Amino acid sequence: MRYVSTRGRAPALGFDDVLLAGLAADGGLYVPETWPQFSAADFASFAGLDYPRLAAKVMAPFVKGSVLEHKLEDLTRRAYANFTHTAVAPMVQTGANEWLLELFHGPTLAFKDFALQCVGLMFDEVLKARGARITIVGATSGDTGSAAIEATKNKDAIDIFILHPAGRTSDVQRRQMTTVDAKNVHNIAVEGTFDDCQNMVKALFADTKFRGELRLSAVNSINWARIMAQIVYYVWAAAHVGAPQRKVAFAVPTGNFGNVFAGYAASRMGLPVARFIVGSNANDILTRYFETGAMTAAGVVPTLSPSMDIQISSNFERLLFEAVSRDGAAVTRHMDQFKQSGSYTVEPKAHAAMLTLFSGHRLDDAGTLKFIGEVHKASGYVLDPHSAVGLYAGREAGLDSAIPRIALATAHPAKFPDAVEKATGTRPSAPQALAEVFHRSERFTTLPNDLDQLRRLIRDRVSH
Ligand SMILES: *Cc1c(COP(=O)(O)O)cnc(C)c1O
Repeated sequence: MRYVSTRGRAPALGFDDVLLAGLAADGGLYVPETWPQFSAADFASFAGLDYPRLAAKVMAPFVKGSVLEHKLEDLTRRAYANFTHTAVAPMVQTGANEWLLELFHGPTLAFKDFALQCVGLMFDEVLKARGARITIVGATSGDTGSAAIEATKNKDAIDIFILHPAGRTSDVQRRQMTTVDAKNVHNIAVEGTFDDCQNMVKALFADTKFRGELRLSAVNSINWARIMAQIVYYVWAAAHVGAPQRKVAFAVPTGNFGNVFAGYAASRMGLPVARFIVGSNANDILTRYFETGAMTAAGVVPTLSPSMDIQISSNFERLLFEAVSRDGAAVTRHMDQFKQSGSYTVEPKAHAAMLTLFSGHRLDDAGTLKFIGEVHKASGYVLDPHSAVGLYAGREAGLDSAIPRIALATAHPAKFPDAVEKATGTRPSAPQALAEVFHRSERFTTLPNDLDQLRRLIRDRVSH
């Protein structure tokens, strides 16, 4: 399998190179040259498989020609062995024809573990095969940092540096990163904001000399491998409620559009999907886009669902590429315009085509608290604020009630105890993995918002 860039001016690459590159050289995102196809009989044969085996089957066509090709099931077994629920991704029925797909039973209690646990092992295998090393650098304000650290800790060929804004993350989220005791894990608290962290990371990647010298790599959701690993649970969940005989709908709490794009990929591979219902918090750029056809940036406001507090949804570029019939020049024009003016408009035909499969819905913080409280009162189920936005969006979408609706529960409620307590009156009890981080000591280095000092620290600390 080869991959092409959404901007059409980077060389097509195989899976292993796409994994290591992250972003394409022309600034675009990689997508498969063609979508692999599964038949109705293929989907039917997936029904009885356990999660790791299904994951290997679904990902197999994407890694053809990779060093991973014949190791995939061994890899997925190892990736999902650390999940605390034996089903890996259990489903809970919450209405007559409504389910929650619980994606928070991994080591850091958010859905990002599904992709990153695989991607960490994939990096390890590919780097070993090439005798190479990489340095991962990232900035985080939420769940990605801890999931990436968990996935790469103690991997010989990887050093990972994660920047967070000093004093500005939640206690739980910071401790999940800083209590990991591994030689290759380096946490840096930057005296500044999340944007300062992000800008320093961008500056490092733009520094070609430094980037080449340290073989910098990224694990943010623009990496194709992360999307690929997320396709699996769409197939899994649909199989549990009657696919391929019945079309299903998915409600997805959305930020960068990576998660819901994985669902779209599943539909392109043949999974019968009636609708993708995109849920946003007050940072509703996507909802406004679906309503109007214009993608227009606005300032980010902090909410109770911080992992969806985004200004732009970078993975939307992949859907745009499909909607304009894979015209890389058209995607480039839109992205250039967005960069210059903070806004672009999708051609009415392409926008209308998207609306046949997608709709957008929003829920602000007050609505989120109210909804968490209502669901808890009605059924005893405790939602985290992100999952609440998704489930609510699903109910708002006005779909035919005969269509099974699956809402993705993306984080464990104990990760957001203050909001949940406010909504339900009860503090959610923390699973063991979370309780432990409060007993371990933290390790991080505090740095001023100064690029030179960051460069020096990374050079000093890398083990190669
Ligand atoms: C990252 C995250 C999201 C948003 O997912 P995207 O792929 O960025 O759309 C939603 N909920 C939680 C809990 C997350 O960590």
